[in-house]
Amino acid sequence: MQDKVKVVIVGGGSAGWMTASFLSKALADGVDISLIQSANIKTVGVGEATFSDIHLFFEFLGLHEEDWMPECNASYKVAIRFVDWNAERRNFYHPFQRFELVQGWRIVEWWLKLKKDNVPADYACFTVPKICDAQRSPRYLDGRIFDSKLDGHLGPSENGDKALLLEDLHLQYPYAYHFDASLLSQFLSGYAKKRGVREIIDEVVDVRLTEDGSIRSIHTKEHGQIEGDLYIDCTGFRGLLINQALKEPFISFSESLPCDSALAMQVPSDRKKEGINPFTTATALSAGWAWNIPLFHRIGTGYVYSSAFLSREAAEEEFRQHLGARADGCNALHIKMRVGRNRNSWVKNCVAIGLSSGFVEPLQSTGIFFIHHGIEQLVNYFPGKRFDEANIKSYNRVIGNCIDGVREFLTLHYVASSREDTRFWKATKNELVVPDELAERLKLWERRLPTDRTINPNYHGFPGFSYCVMLLGLGRQPKYSLPALDHASDRHALAAFDQIGKRTEHLLSTLPSLYEYLTFRYGEGEPTLYRDGTKDKGVAA
Ligand code: FAD
Repeated sequence: MQDKVKVVIVGGGSAGWMTASFLSKALADGVDISLIQSANIKTVGVGEATFSDIHLFFEFLGLHEEDWMPECNASYKVAIRFVDWNAERRNFYHPFQRFELVQGWRIVEWWLKLKKDNVPADYACFTVPKICDAQRSPRYLDGRIFDSKLDGHLGPSENGDKALLLEDLHLQYPYAYHFDASLLSQFLSGYAKKRGVREIIDEVVDVRLTEDGSIRSIHTKEHGQIEGDLYIDCTGFRGLLINQALKEPFISFSESLPCDSALAMQVPSDRKKEGINPFTTATALSAGWAWNIPLFHRIGTGYVYSSAFLSREAAEEEFRQHLGARADGCNALHIKMRVGRNRNSWVKNCVAIGLSSGFVEPLQSTGIFFIHHGIEQLVNYFPGKRFDEANIKSYNRVIGNCIDGVREFLTLHYVASSREDTRFWKATKNELVVPDELAERLKLWERRLPTDRTINPNYHGFPGFSYCVMLLGLGRQPKYSLPALDHASDRHALAAFDQIGKRTEHLLSTLPSLYEYLTFRYGEGEPTLYRDGTKDKGVAA
């Protein structure tokens, strides 16, 4: 066994503790990890909706839902509901469920041809929208997942190993989580400390460099000088090590993503009366959009907006109106967002993970996904004690491509939306800089739906199906269906749509509500078992 690699993490938000936990598991005895966090500098305190791949993170740590979910007031998320994002104000869902294939074509291609009974694409092609409307749980009370097509592929591989790299998961997991991010950090700090991670509560006041520009040591108020082989910057928007000490430039995305400010609020919920939505809601407002993330014990909500179009006071006023009486007595936390990414997230012996690496607005819940992706790639490219430029360059390309891909996907949300009713929404059509490649793709997508081969080719977490769902929902439909389908019989497609309808009805009549499921799991109250009154006959569709 070689000498242990000394890893010094600065920052104890989601990024810091997720990194500490993951490294302490993945590299076990090979690393000696210290995490420094200030008691006075607060974490950003938001970030509660996730991407479906997050289950891999927990699985890798060996954590089951029952270990961590109740500790973090967590709930399930099967989709994002977009409200008021198109001129017609028709709501639509971006689910984690994917399109099935009919005669080799994605069912959405058949929908475009048949526009079956004028049912919108999301309701026609997925079971999830109606499950969301009816606030159903994605799991039965006995633990089975509603989407049994995926069930067989979800567990560990045959030899019991868990996937380490996100790209290696070829099937989309059917749900993600909502959780209290502060509670998750606390939970993970317990996990990491049990695995030997040393926590130092102190403030970093100075960072000293070597002659070649690497970090030699960091200096704290009370614990003096701390040295490591590898330094991980998890200091949030400050970028204390990577930007302030190492002077790595930050590339702003303000030309293509207009929102630079947010206000966040935690509001109470009456879960018994109102139920719990198994989805995140993103509601377009006058100069941005509002998120609504239902946890088990409260709702996390906020307004992401552009300060060029709305003052802080006007944003708070509009948001309070949007929430109504629910906001009474609740405080708003105003946040200035640094939107963009570092030119390089790994410089010399310092790697930035979390907000210090890059951030795009949380429209598709990508903050924690970026952290997860950054960490697993760090393990993949782990340097030991030797810092090899080719290795670092490759890591930076992978991370940069991922964040840029998400930027492109989010830019599409604004430019493709058919809303033009306020100054902000007009500007999203006329003033945003649309990257050349996206502009070219949008032209193609006027004629045909996006596929995995016609979207941004770099791994960024969103496959072609996400682009399809968003474009159709935002009000952009290709002019024609695929000509090839004119030469195929519609019979199988019609039967498939019928099947989806039947499966949906079955799920609606058998799945418990999310409220029932969680109260049952968390030990509060008696659930009504299945909707049709029976006990254990619900068969996953
Ligand atoms: P922070 O939480 O800011 O933590 C920084 C840490 O660094 C703190 O512990 C602090 O004490 C420490 N620190 C700083 N300076 C020093 C110093 N000098 N000495 C010692 N310690 C120091 N992501 C999602 O996935 N889903 C969402 O729904 C979502 N919503 C969001 C909404 C908004 C408005 C914003 C702004 C972000 C959202 N995110 C979301 C992103 C998510 O919040 C972050 O990715 C996540 O919280 C990680 O933050 P962090 O740990 O990088 O930084």
